[in-house]
Amino acid sequence: MRKDFLPFSKPSITEADIASVGEVLRSGWITTGPKTAQFEKNFSEYIGCKGSIALSSATAGMHMAMSALKIGPGDEVITPSMTWVSTANMITLAGATPVFADVDKDTLMVTAESIEKCITPKTRLIIPVHYAGAAADMDSITELAKKHGIGVLEDSAHAVGTHYKGQQVGKESTSIFSFHAIKNITTAEGGMFCSSDEDLLEHVRRLKFHGLGVDSFDRKMQGRAPQAQVIEPGYKYNMTDISAVIGINQLAAVDDFNARRTELAMRYRQLLENVEEVLPLSDPGYSIKHAWHLFIVRVDTEKTGITRNDFMDRLKKKNIGTGLHFYAVHLQKYYTEVMGTRRGMLPNTEWNSDRICSLPLFPGMTIDDVDDVVNAIKEVISEI
Ligand SMILES: *Cc1c(COP(=O)(O)O)cnc(C)c1O
Repeated sequence: MRKDFLPFSKPSITEADIASVGEVLRSGWITTGPKTAQFEKNFSEYIGCKGSIALSSATAGMHMAMSALKIGPGDEVITPSMTWVSTANMITLAGATPVFADVDKDTLMVTAESIEKCITPKTRLIIPVHYAGAAADMDSITELAKKHGIGVLEDSAHAVGTHYKGQQVGKESTSIFSFHAIKNITTAEGGMFCSSDEDLLEHVRRLKFHGLGVDSFDRKMQGRAPQAQVIEPGYKYNMTDISAVIGINQLAAVDDFNARRTELAMRYRQLLENVEEVLPLSDPGYSIKHAWHLFIVRVDTEKTGITRNDFMDRLKKKNIGTGLHFYAVHLQKYYTEVMGTRRGMLPNTEWNSDRICSLPLFPGMTIDDVDDVVNAIKEVISEI
């Protein structure tokens, strides 16, 4: 058994990152400023989108998207239930109703077919998720949305560096990325709102800082004039330069990080091929470049006779950390009690929600670490 605990995720922070943070702290300018502007510029260049707005989280971006798109009471927003709770929470806080679409059983991707079944005259927005670092099938989803005159906001929290049909996710759409500590790049906490819609960018730029007007001078200087007026009540969701400087370094390393994640994921796939009790996710049938945010397996609860939670506990006792991405949102206490969602509504989501488990995957891991995880899985299975 491993002597030390292997966490399921760990940020890759170098001494150079620590030194850059020190520099910002010593500079006299620690909140939103030149580092944030640089990070936004670099991010737009990397993604290929018109504009990027650095935020305190991806959730903040979702919140402001609801405001900017005037989504409220009487409106419905379609999203998978197999996602992080923040999406459903933001829809609900806006006064709208989340409508949960089922996902593909083996990719966990929401599909145009499952979304179409959820469309009503009240549908205003679709929020697909690029799951685990693979890409959702945006061609069919975008076409469906266009046909019905509905907006699309891509949840790209897992997808910095993901390609869909040869193109960076987020390039020509409106997308939200997350830099939470476990994501492919991190700023401790943080997010990016990316779009190629100039009006929407302008609106979100205003909403992220109290709804104060931004003029061209402000855009250049990254600071609002003290005389700026409230155009509409806004939020306080700006990123600090302390975070942004970490983001600049992380973004410069993301292709290396993702290449390392890919090597580790390939090793998992190879070693798990003949372990029939755990089933990795499949790749979608269209062309993607995977960012390998997560390596998810489904525990065959019938074959093993143990629950996923028991499986996770047993791995923990062998010094292997795991994660759960995600417990279906429509089965969360609030949504069952208040929205009346229940088991039986989304068969593929529920099947996976009961069986999924994320294995350790981060760039600082070695191939030997992967071997340790798979050996621990084999031991757990042999001990049942
Ligand atoms: C992490 C995550 C978010 C939220 O990101 P924050 O930056 O923590 O707000 C949203 N959606 C998905 C799918 C995520 O994994």
